[in-house]
Amino acid sequence: MQRNGPGELMVPDFLGPEHADFSRAIAYVDGEFVPLLDARISVRDFGLTHADQTYDVLHVWNGGFFRLDDHMNRFARSLAGMRLDPGLSRAQQVAILEECVRRTGLRYALVYWACTRGAPPLGGRDPTVCRNTFLCYAQPLVLRGSPEQMRRGLAVQISPTVRRIPSDSLNPRWKNVHWGDFTRALFDAKDAGFDSTVLLDHAGNVTEGPGFNVLAVVRGELVAPAEGVLEGISALTMMELATELGLPARFGVLSPEDLRNADEAFITSTSCGLFPITRVDDRILSNGAPGPLSVRLLNTYYQRKNDGWHITPIRYE
Ligand code: PLP
Repeated sequence: MQRNGPGELMVPDFLGPEHADFSRAIAYVDGEFVPLLDARISVRDFGLTHADQTYDVLHVWNGGFFRLDDHMNRFARSLAGMRLDPGLSRAQQVAILEECVRRTGLRYALVYWACTRGAPPLGGRDPTVCRNTFLCYAQPLVLRGSPEQMRRGLAVQISPTVRRIPSDSLNPRWKNVHWGDFTRALFDAKDAGFDSTVLLDHAGNVTEGPGFNVLAVVRGELVAPAEGVLEGISALTMMELATELGLPARFGVLSPEDLRNADEAFITSTSCGLFPITRVDDRILSNGAPGPLSVRLLNTYYQRKNDGWHITPIRYE
C-alpha cells in the first residue's frame, strides 16, 4: 500500500497483476476441486449458449470474506429472479467458497461463483428441465486497471450510440452476463481513445458500465443511480462511508450533464472498491487527478477493511 504524498490516494500496488500467482487458483466444478486452469463445463450448457446463468463475485481481504452476507443475499435474489436452483443450501455454497479459498492459501483473493442452467437432455431445448449447476473459483485478487491508472484516474466515454438493455427486458439487479451492450460500447470507447464506457438508459440517464457502478459528487452530494443498475456492494459501501464522513449521499437520478459537470466521480466494483474518473467525454474532472472525496473514501475503505470491518474470517486450517 503506497501513498503518493500526504492526503493522497493509498494505491494497493501489491495487487498489481505482476504479483499474482495464478497457479494457486482453485475451482470447484461438478463436485470436484481442481486447478482453475483445468476447470471445464459442457459446451452444451445454456449458461454458455444462452447466457442463462447468474453469478456473484466477492473478495477476500487479509484472510476474510468482505461483506459475505450481502453477496450471498444478492446471489439468492438473482437465483430466485432467474429461476435457477443449484440444489445447495446457502451454508453448503459458503462452504464451497471457503474450501476454494482455503485450498489456494491466499489471504487476498477474488472469489467467483455461478449457477448455470446446465445442459438440456440430448436433442432437447427446454430450460425448465435442465439440472442447474454450481461452480466456483478463487484466484489471486488483482486490481481492476493498473496502479498507475488508479493514480491518474480513468477517462470514460458516455456511449453516444449504445443504450443499456432496458430493465423490463433484463433485470439488471440479477447479476448476469448479457454484456452485448457493454462490450459494443467498450469497443467504441476504446476506438475513441477512452479507457472505458458508461451507458445511459432509454430515458437518457446514467446507468453503469462494464462491471462497475458510477457515482458522482454533484452540487456537494454524492449521487448513485438508483434504477437500471446492479445493486453494487462496493457502491453501497462507498455510500455508507460517505455518510459516516459527513457527506450527504443518496441514490437517485444521475444525468449525463451531472456526470460531465461533477466535482468528482468514480466507478465502484469489487475488484477495486473505488477507482477515480478524471475525464468524462471531453470534460476533465477534479483538475485531472483523483478528487479529495475519492481519496478520503478509498483510504477509509482500506483502513476499515484492515481493521476487520465487514470481514468474515476464513478458517485456513
Ligand atoms: N454493475 C455491473 C454490471 C457489474 O457487473 C458489477 C460487478 O461485477 C458492478 C456493477 C459492481 O458491483 P460490486 O460492487 O458488487 O462488485
